[in-house]
Amino acid sequence: MIELSILTGKLLIFIILFSAVIGAYCTTIDYRIRRDLPLITRDCFCPSCGHRLAAIHQIPIISWVFLGGRCRYCEAPIPVRYPLIEASFIFYYCSAFLLFQNRPLTYIFSWYLFFSIFLLLRSEKHWRSLLKGLAILSVYHIVFTALLLMILAAESVPIR
Ligand SMILES: [Zn+2]
Repeated sequence: MIELSILTGKLLIFIILFSAVIGAYCTTIDYRIRRDLPLITRDCFCPSCGHRLAAIHQIPIISWVFLGGRCRYCEAPIPVRYPLIEASFIFYYCSAFLLFQNRPLTYIFSWYLFFSIFLLLRSEKHWRSLLKGLAILSVYHIVFTALLLMILAAESVPIR
């Protein structure tokens, strides 16, 4: 029982990191889909001044708090919806995991549905970009599922 809860704790950290990254990526592609910009790029920039953002300024939630909700270069306000979207992704991913712990396919499918609905509601008529965004996020979830199933198999956790 104790071993299971240590494993649950470890998996929870793994899921917090994954959902923070997915949430942050969703806010980025949400912006890019509606402008038909490339969805895979290493350049992340401030929409106000166009300055390239350093990795340190792209940490989900934490960067927003430390920057005081403003761009470091032009001081333009960064909408509070960004950290809120990231936080809601973390909250939803963690609650689904805690509810359906040993049913990984159930909670991963519910996550998949969550971000699909998020992107669908935000994408307006940019269908081609939306499909690309869904494809990219599907790959992330498939990789995550494979990693998770490997961890659970290695720990011989029964999967229902
Ligand atoms: Zn700026």
